[in-house]
This record gives sequence, C-alpha cells and structure tokens, in this order.
Amino acid sequence: MADEYDFDLFVIGAGSGGVRAGRLAALAGQRVGMAEEYRIGGTCVIRGCVPKKFMVYASQFKKTFEAAKGFGWSMDNIRFDWPRFQHAMSAEVDRLSGIYMRNLANAGVEVIEERAEFVDDHTLRLIKSGREVTAGRILIATGGAPWRPDDLPGVERTITSNEIFHLKELPRHLVIAGGGYIACEFAHVFSGLGVETCLVYRGETVLNGFDFDIRTEVHEGLKRAGVRVITHTIFESIEDSGDPDLPHKIKLENGDEITADVVMMAVGREPATHGLNCEAAGVELGKRGAVIVDEHSRTNKEHIFALGDVINKVQLTPVAIREGHALADTLYNDNPWTFEYDNIATAVFTQPEVGTVGMSEAEARAAHTDIDIYKTRFKPMKSALSGDDTRTMMKLVVRASDEKILGVHMVGPDSAEMIQAIGIAVKKGVTKSDFDRTCAVHPTAAEELVTMRQKFIPEAATA
Ligand code: NDP
Repeated sequence: MADEYDFDLFVIGAGSGGVRAGRLAALAGQRVGMAEEYRIGGTCVIRGCVPKKFMVYASQFKKTFEAAKGFGWSMDNIRFDWPRFQHAMSAEVDRLSGIYMRNLANAGVEVIEERAEFVDDHTLRLIKSGREVTAGRILIATGGAPWRPDDLPGVERTITSNEIFHLKELPRHLVIAGGGYIACEFAHVFSGLGVETCLVYRGETVLNGFDFDIRTEVHEGLKRAGVRVITHTIFESIEDSGDPDLPHKIKLENGDEITADVVMMAVGREPATHGLNCEAAGVELGKRGAVIVDEHSRTNKEHIFALGDVINKVQLTPVAIREGHALADTLYNDNPWTFEYDNIATAVFTQPEVGTVGMSEAEARAAHTDIDIYKTRFKPMKSALSGDDTRTMMKLVVRASDEKILGVHMVGPDSAEMIQAIGIAVKKGVTKSDFDRTCAVHPTAAEELVTMRQKFIPEAATA
C-alpha cells in the first residue's frame, strides 16, 4: 500500500479478533497501528472467558472437598478467601495481557492505548492525545459491551459482568437477571462459593436456543446447586430497601420482592459502536448498532472491515480469532479463505458444564423428516463414592437416511473438553456407524458416546 497513509492497516480494538488480524498483518510486512481504550486482550482475557474460568475453578472446590470425604479424606476448617483469590486471578490476567502486548510489539504493531474514533473513512482521531492518524485499511474490532435496559427504574444500582470480577467482598445475596450463558455461569460460580443466589428469567427454561435436553438439565442443575430460580418474570424496578446489609429492593413484574446487596444484569451484550462515529466514515450499521459485513469481513466501504462481537454474528472468542486470521491471510498472505459458521463446538461453564456442537433436536427435525435420537443419562463414576447428585446427559442427533451425526449435546463433568474432540469428527461428517465402530476408552464417561445403541423413543410414542 502506498505511503500516502501513516499505516497500511489500523485496527480499532485489541481484543481476540483485532490482535490476531493485526499481528498477522504486521508479520506479513504491513505497517500496523492498533488503538485500545481499556486493556490489551479485550473482553476474553480481561473481563470474560479467562477470569470467569478461574472463578469457575475457585467455586468448584467446595463440592470437591465434600466429595473427597466419600473417598476417605477428612479435613477441617476449610475457608475461602475472596481477596486472596481475586489477587491471584488479576495477577494472571495481567500476565496474559502482558503477553499479548509483547507479541504485538514483537510483530511490529504500534499499540496506542487510547480510544479512537472516525474523522473520515481513512482518518481516525485518538481521543486522549488528539492525534490524528490515517490508514489505507481500517479494521473495526471493538467487540461488545453488556447491555442494560436504560428504562428500568433503579438500573444504576445494578452491575454487569464487567464489574463482577472486581467486587470488594463476596455478596451476601446476589440476584441475577437473565437466563443465558452469563447468568447461568455466574449463578453457579457464586452459589458454589457459598453465596445465596437468585436468578430471575423471563422464560420457562434457561439457555434459550440450546437443545432442549441441555436446557432442562441446566435448569434443574441450577436448582440442585441451591440457586433460587424464578421464571416468567422480569425486574420492574430496583429501589433502596433501607437495610444497609441488603440495600437493594427488587420489585418483579409478578409482584414478588427480593432484597440483595449485589444485583447483576446479564441480559445480553450489544456491539460496541457507540462513540466510534461510524457515520463520518460512511460505514453502515444494522440492528443494535452491529457493523454490517460480507463473508470476507468487508463493510460497505471497500477498505474498512469489521469482525468479532461488533458484527453481532457469533459472540465467541474462537470465532473472532478465526475471522481475524482469515482476514489477514486473505488481505496479506495471498491465501483467501472465509470462516465456516457451521458446526461450531461450544461450552457453557455451568456446573456441571455443557458441551454442544451442531443442530439441536428441534433444528434437525425442522430441517429433516428422518431424525433418530440416541440419549443417555447416568451417574458419573466419581459420584458413586462421593454421593453427590451430579448426573451426565449425552445425546446424539442423527439423520436416519445416511446416519450422519447432525448434533452432539452433553451436560456433565468434562463436557467442554470432550466436545472439542467430537467437534472435529462432526465437522468431518462423522456417521453413527463410525461411532459404533470406535472402540471405547474404559472406564470413562466419554465411552458412552460410542456405546449408545438404543434409539430413544419418547414415552408418548410407546404409550
Ligand atoms: P445471552 O444472549 O446468552 O442471554 C441473554 C439473556 O437475557 C436471555 O436469557 C434473554 O432471555 C434475557 N433477556 C434479554 N433481554 C431481556 C430483557 N429485556 N429483560 C429480561 N431478560 C432479557 O446473553 P449473555 O449476556 O448471557 O451472553 C452474551 C454472549 O456472550 C452469549 O451469547 C455468548 O455468545 C457469549 N458468552 C459465551 C460464553 C461461553 O462461550 N462460555 C460465556 C459468556 C458469554 P430470552 O432467553 O428469553 O431471550
């Protein structure tokens, strides 16, 4: 690209997608600039997947200690120290952010730690310094931000997943609004840490959009974990309760009232395009402010691109990374490719966790007339001695005509680890007979996946 611009590529946002695209472009010899207003690493590293997983680990120990008794262990005086854990967690987040920073520097990316906004379609203003930079190509990778309903009276009393990692002390009573990934994961985390936890969901069964057996299993699992689950209602208002220990009074639309010291909104995320001044660049935005792109991450402007959560397609870190990789290869490595959005394996870190890939039973039945279901639910071996009530559910969705496995859905210990490997097979078009011909690994939970022989017949059909 001609030297008429300061940079060949300027990336707005140093999260998973922006970092991957910017680093590969720089390694391919491009002059790359990158602006980040918060911290290098984006939501995943700084206030998402990574610290969340540490919290999941922290919250699992209580149950593990209890389970250990069934295996002959005895222990006294076990306590959890929230500030000590928080310190360790943030030290690790700092370390990872530092690695991101070093990798960018080593690749030759100029990282500018301030907010950028468009001046025109080749120019950006850096807000803190007032500096203006120009670029031949621009990548919008600003991610997403938690959404809160502004018209909810008392919404300023609530926090989101951005703040949950920085609480000074553990809540006494946490109330969470929502029934998606974030609400379910954090309900388990805090309940596991011994916090009285309540989840308020507007629907019937949490995890809308997932296979129904996963939803039922997770919904019942929340209740088994001690979470109070209130359905079919939403917050009407949040006011001062007058009680310094539980200062927030939440009024629900069903007439119930709950008091809490921490109230968390987990009702979805929205693309972070506010204040980016996309209009000045003529970049078209769609629903909820998402940047509209084609399959090559290109906006309506030939030289402006967008990827990751800001396009509001699939809000998952590995998807943003792949989109960023495809863009850099396409533009700078003479290797054009696009990310395939089918069969993305994913996990929800409830306790136990969810692993899923491919079509739900409902999606498969809507698309095909000949669907077979194989399903099992069992007590994992560890629970036999620990005496806990954990159960594992596994389900295969199969197209009968060619035995192709269209979906695999699991809830149970280690499901996230298993689904990554199964995802390879499903992506390759594995069939039920391939599963049947695969020798089991014994004794594991995973062996159930290759030993299910009996088609599941719904009770109604056998009555
Ligand atoms: P989700 O879209 O998963 O869930 C939002 C929840 O809020 C749903 O239960 C929804 O209800 C409810 N809701 C939406 N609007 C309202 C409203 N006005 N009033 C009351 N309830 C409402 O969003 P999350 O914030 O949980 O997560 C955002 C995204 O982040 C996820 O989609 C996921 O892609 C990603 N993520 C991934 C993780 C992982 O990979 N493990 C972990 C965390 C996040 P309804 O079901 O009725 O629509």
